[in-house]
Amino acid sequence: MKAKKSLGQNFLIDKNIISKIVTEVSACNDDLIIEIGPGRGALTKELKRKQAHLICYEIDQDLAAILNKLEDEKIKIIWQDFLKSRIDEDIEDIKYNKLYIVGNLPYYITTPIIEHIMDSNIDFEKLIIMVQREVAERFMANIHTKEYGYITVVLNYYFEVSKVTDVSRYCFNPVPKVESTVLRLVPRKEKEELDFNKFKEFLKVCFSQKRKTLKNNLKGYDWHKIKNVLNKYHMTESVRAEEISKDVFVEIFKNI
Ligand code: SAH
Repeated sequence: MKAKKSLGQNFLIDKNIISKIVTEVSACNDDLIIEIGPGRGALTKELKRKQAHLICYEIDQDLAAILNKLEDEKIKIIWQDFLKSRIDEDIEDIKYNKLYIVGNLPYYITTPIIEHIMDSNIDFEKLIIMVQREVAERFMANIHTKEYGYITVVLNYYFEVSKVTDVSRYCFNPVPKVESTVLRLVPRKEKEELDFNKFKEFLKVCFSQKRKTLKNNLKGYDWHKIKNVLNKYHMTESVRAEEISKDVFVEIFKNI
């Protein structure tokens, strides 16, 4: 069976990388693992050895011949677009201790997938996800760099983001055009309480025109209140969004 480009099918073939990802999923037999996009089961077969509950979302029914064989009383394949799933309902009947989420998925849906998981409001230990190298750099970007942007702040508010390993494109079949990185995203237990959707909207405005100053992007907001926070951190009125840390963004947001 040919890999489908349209579904971003690049199957992992490197044993060492598979093992590194599976090791990150430190699940025991009373835990639950959600795998997104199992494909031909490269990760699934290894995850199965942990004897945890396992739920896999796969969109391509042509993989049934391979994946159905892996099903048992603790392993279930859900044939659905993960982005349209109701994760909370899908797992409500399972009694589990900790939840881990893992996926090597098409790169064009990396951000929607992470957003879908954040919006689902489920509690989990960590998300281990394969992403395009450049995207990993944006997710982990330091302040004052050109990679630092809206998505950096959103993800770092919600998660502690770190690298598991870089992955060469030759670890996949077919070989993709880009290099990859496996990331671990651990939800922060003690994040500032705020209206997350409104915070995201606010950050979008802050970063809407990266070359403009924050003040220019935030026309229509009460600049006086924002200025007070900036002053506290010795920042001038000509500051740009990429010079503001996640914590200061949170403080500004909570003051307006
Ligand atoms: N995880 C496997 C497969 C990677 S290829 C491995 O590492 O080898 C990506 C997989 O995601 C494919 O099987 C593809 O069919 C599946 N996929 C693509 N879009 C999806 C979606 N929206 N929801 C669920 N699965 C999807």
